[in-house]
Amino acid sequence: MNFELLIQSQQTFFNSNKTKDIGFRKQQLEKLKHIIRQNETLLYEAIYKDFKKSEFDTYTNELFLLYSDINTAIKNIDAWSAKKSVKTNFFNFPASSYIIPEPLGTSLIIGAWNYPYQLSLAPAIAAIAAGNTVILKPSEIALNTSNAMASIINANFSTEYFTVVEGGVAETTELLKQKYDKMFFTGSTSTGKIVYEAAAKHLTPVTLELGGKSPAFITKDCNLKQTVKRLVWGKFLNAGQTCIAPDYIVVDKRIEEDFIKVLKDCIAKSDYSFANNNYVQIINDKHFNRLVNLIDKTKVVFGGSSNSAERYIEPTVLSGISFADEIMKEEIFGPLLPIISYTNIDDAIAEVKKKQKPLSCYIFTDDTKIKNKIRSEISFGGGCINDSVMHISNDNLPFGGVGASGMGSYHGEAGFKTFSHYKSIMEKPFWFEPNFKYPPYTKRKLNLIKKLKSII
Ligand code: NAD
Repeated sequence: MNFELLIQSQQTFFNSNKTKDIGFRKQQLEKLKHIIRQNETLLYEAIYKDFKKSEFDTYTNELFLLYSDINTAIKNIDAWSAKKSVKTNFFNFPASSYIIPEPLGTSLIIGAWNYPYQLSLAPAIAAIAAGNTVILKPSEIALNTSNAMASIINANFSTEYFTVVEGGVAETTELLKQKYDKMFFTGSTSTGKIVYEAAAKHLTPVTLELGGKSPAFITKDCNLKQTVKRLVWGKFLNAGQTCIAPDYIVVDKRIEEDFIKVLKDCIAKSDYSFANNNYVQIINDKHFNRLVNLIDKTKVVFGGSSNSAERYIEPTVLSGISFADEIMKEEIFGPLLPIISYTNIDDAIAEVKKKQKPLSCYIFTDDTKIKNKIRSEISFGGGCINDSVMHISNDNLPFGGVGASGMGSYHGEAGFKTFSHYKSIMEKPFWFEPNFKYPPYTKRKLNLIKKLKSII
């Protein structure tokens, strides 16, 4: 495919001003919703082929969120795109001042494989709502879902407006050479750097949704049963292949033993297996081998078994872990849960802060002082108090990272803002002109300006 021609055609379409029309955007979002709904079976089959993800999981943590995103956008798009008046300062009297969002133009969206529909289509929804054209490149690692999205989008939208381009590193490298008005990337921190560099060449604004090691703090004052239940769900959902999964536990030494006991019990009862569709496969052999190599058998207190033919790794808990262990060096992105205990919360916070800023942080506690301390002392993208992962499901909360876990945010209005430029306008009538800003620059005029400045 000739990417240069593709982008030219999208630029031409954007310049036709069709996407500026709010009615047009709403129609396209309705159309997208209809297409997804009509093709749900195809989407379920494709994702099951990729990593045995069930209909329940796919609906609840992919399609449900997409339908919500579309409905929220359609409902709020008028308000989001309305002109917003702001105060005018004294020296500009008489005038009105306002801010109007405008679409950035052509956008490139690159998705990750772990929630392939949500991570590709949610940014596309935001881009469409804000009036942009879209080239979407899903991850080639979840090949069947990439094919499914390409088939349903490309059959229903014109290439010059919204198209899916499939491919791996070679195709993405070519795509990245082109000039867009916006790039939106979801994936690893290392690829994020490549995308950022490519964006810099054209000064293209870029949103990076990256990963990292997200800690979960468990303090003495938490409700242990609820804590474990919410934590286990967030960790082993998608077999731990979730960017905001709790990556590791930091638990108060005084309750460590009880915590591990309740944790083991909860995982055992959750019955994570393919047979009952409660669990998914590791996405490929490369990730399977990487994860198996991270299991230090001497530290396993639950699980530890795996099956390479099935790409199955049992939910696995490792205790007696220190911040220096191998498993603490990189984002785990799999069903392995290391536990680090602390005796001094300040030391634990200091260790977490030595690492890159995480995408999420979870704090399980009923102690307000500790909650406020951890929340304010550690910099992280977003998170929950007394829950895990669920903050992503509230589209009133902008979702994104900080530092190595990303830049920019989306979901709800934040997504609309991400794909918009906000034009600041001052509008003046002709009937009044105080002449003191024009030459000649006399002492009298300067004194008058200084006097006015001192009283307003
Ligand atoms: P990845 O970086 O390997 O791939 C992401 C995308 O980049 C894919 O579409 C891929 O084709 C492309 N790509 C890969 N290598 C490239 C290269 N050298 N040049 C150009 N393009 C390239 O990431 P992944 O394995 O798909 O996803 C896992 C990572 O993504 C984890 O770190 C996870 O935390 C993160 N993630 C973040 C979020 C978030 O919302 N912040 C969501 C999901 C995943």
